Amino acid sequence: MRKPIIAGNWKMNLKVAEAVALAEALKPLVADAAAVEIVVCPTYVSLYSVAKALAGSNIAVGGQDAYVKESGAYTAAISPQMLADAGCTWTIIGHSERRHIFGDTDTLLNEKLRFALASGLKVMFCIGELLEERKSGKMEDVIKRQVVEGLKGLSSADLANVVLAYEPVWAIGTGETASPEQAEEVHVFTRALVRDMFGADAAEAIRIQYGGSVKADNAAELLAKPNVDGFLVGGAALKADSFAAIIKAGC
Ligand code: PEP
Repeated sequence: MRKPIIAGNWKMNLKVAEAVALAEALKPLVADAAAVEIVVCPTYVSLYSVAKALAGSNIAVGGQDAYVKESGAYTAAISPQMLADAGCTWTIIGHSERRHIFGDTDTLLNEKLRFALASGLKVMFCIGELLEERKSGKMEDVIKRQVVEGLKGLSSADLANVVLAYEPVWAIGTGETASPEQAEEVHVFTRALVRDMFGADAAEAIRIQYGGSVKADNAAELLAKPNVDGFLVGGAALKADSFAAIIKAGC
């Protein structure tokens, strides 16, 4: 049995006091949600304060990215070691906004993933196709490339600390959600890719989150699919009650 993992990606939202207030509001609402692993990913500047607010709770804290060096002359970058020092146990790598706005390549994302794992963080590694890629029949090629290039060089032991997040780019922040059947189809395809690379046990064990306009009212039907193992949530994670309702759907 794979324990569902539900994570909130707060993106570039919330000032420090707002982020702490959201964390404090969320804590009691999900205190008894033992069936689900919960993570929130605030901005870098709020990480330390949010992690302090959530210390001892059942909500873990993650970064939204991590660079491939521990320290040095890399202006604006943050290392996995710094994330861990601020209280993170997780980081997101490869979010579509990193891929498409900031130009993170498959090669760089593979490097980021491997360095974050080697530094002791667990990673939610995002994959997902653009609308034009889906429409032109390239979806499977894109997912395959992102998985094969992204997970290159990892061992099966590394993979135990990786969660994959399937986030069709056309569903992120658009209000348009993949249907449970569309999500399941890609999750099955993705799990088969993991099987080819790492074997049946690793494929059975790895959790694959869905992300893309998840809300309280579509969470349960998505999670009912056998290969949907949780969510990466953007907009609906910015309010304690809507994020808590999504978490409750997993309990
Ligand atoms: C995301 O950015 O990972 C995401 C899924 O956003 P939203 O839930 O707002 O679509």
